[in-house]
Amino acid sequence: MSPELPAPSRAAGLARLAAFAPRMGRAYAAGRNTDPGPGRRADVSRLSAHVRHRLLLEEELVGAALARHRFAEAEKFVQEVFWRSYWKGFLALRPAMWAEYRARVAEEQARLAIQGGLRAAVERAMAGRTGLACFDAWARELVETGWLHNHARMWFASIWIFTLRLPWPLGAEFFRQHLCDADAASNTLSWRWVAGIQTPGKHYLARAENIARHTEGRFDPRGELDEAAAPLDEPGPPPPGALPPADPPPRGPVALLLHEEDLHPESLPPLRLAALGAVTPPEARAPLARGFTEAALADGLARAEARFGLPGRLLAPEAVADWAAESGAPALALPEPAIGPLADWAEQALRPSLAARGLALHRLRRPWDAACWPLARKGFFPFRESIPRLIAELSPRAP
Ligand SMILES: Cc1cc2nc3c(=O)[nH]c(=O)nc-3n(C[C@H](O)[C@H](O)[C@H](O)COP(=O)(O)OP(=O)(O)OC[C@H]3O[C@@H](n4cnc5c(N)ncnc54)[C@H](O)[C@@H]3O)c2cc1C
Repeated sequence: MSPELPAPSRAAGLARLAAFAPRMGRAYAAGRNTDPGPGRRADVSRLSAHVRHRLLLEEELVGAALARHRFAEAEKFVQEVFWRSYWKGFLALRPAMWAEYRARVAEEQARLAIQGGLRAAVERAMAGRTGLACFDAWARELVETGWLHNHARMWFASIWIFTLRLPWPLGAEFFRQHLCDADAASNTLSWRWVAGIQTPGKHYLARAENIARHTEGRFDPRGELDEAAAPLDEPGPPPPGALPPADPPPRGPVALLLHEEDLHPESLPPLRLAALGAVTPPEARAPLARGFTEAALADGLARAEARFGLPGRLLAPEAVADWAAESGAPALALPEPAIGPLADWAEQALRPSLAARGLALHRLRRPWDAACWPLARKGFFPFRESIPRLIAELSPRAP
């Protein structure tokens, strides 16, 4: 388990949420950019892996903040939670960006196989052996704890791209393999933002003075960073498409499948269940991150058993279609996965396997996603204008 994160259960997430709620106001706004180092981070929630698996819901974080603080005081924290929904919406409206990212990673990995110098440089960076003390410490921390502070992620990505001059898709993939909160949208689009290709021409340059100040002097890389690099010259995001319409709610009985992206069965709509299951992740990841996800799945499945009064089964991806067919239900329902590896599997492998057995697939879209995702058409600042209206519409509540 990660020493930096609460245990991978809803109960542990709720305990952290309750303990952190008093700090979601001015303390968060003042302290969130400072990373005092492992074991000393009282000013950020470290709940991202719980939210990413929806052991806790976005609305529960926002609700907890607004139950304790006035909007003006909690605005920074609330905005950060909405950044997550914004990034997910941004990718949902432009799914080709995810396919392109996957292709870029495969291309760069193929290049590693034939360019020994590049391979050695990437291996040194991932092993924390570049000689840059701050970068090396963050590389090791990522591997050892499965988490990094937001500011450290920004510095790390910037140094990877602009000082070490390594391909950004390989850095993003290194994060995706190791972060317990790894999220296709937040991760890919944040790396693009640092590189200056998400908001073309605007990049994030890590500066030694900023690192020294916000690590409270733990690191001081003066003279070691390229602080004058130009943004990468790559195409910006494509224009947004429309969000595909939500599936109609299933009418008859279903086999309900939980998955790593949504482990909050308590808030699913009423369903007639013929069977209850949870699928293990379709992709290999680093052991710590995978262990977090597997424990979270077990927790979600146990809570679903309690809610629906049915025994649940943990299933390998290739066993799901047969399991659904054996349930006798005409359809399988799952909480709608956002663009990413799970959605790829659901569309490319599961849907055809179900169809071959005469079964339908129903994706259950959450009201939060339905309200937020279509608004991610431009930058975050126009999206941010809608936050008060979204809060009024969605009435987020503390758990
Ligand atoms: C290069 C890079 C890669 C990133 N990759 C991921 C990722 O794969 N998964 C991920 O969840 N976040 C990612 N982030 C965003 C952010 O760093 C983490 O969400 C945050 O550090 C989590 O710490 P926390 O739970 O203490 O956040 P807090 O500061 O306590 O914020 C509360 C919650 O808001 C959300 N949040 C906060 N900041 C952001 C942000 N900038 N973008 C999106 N959501 C945010 C998270 O769900 C978080 O738990 C990335 C940022 C960068 C710069």
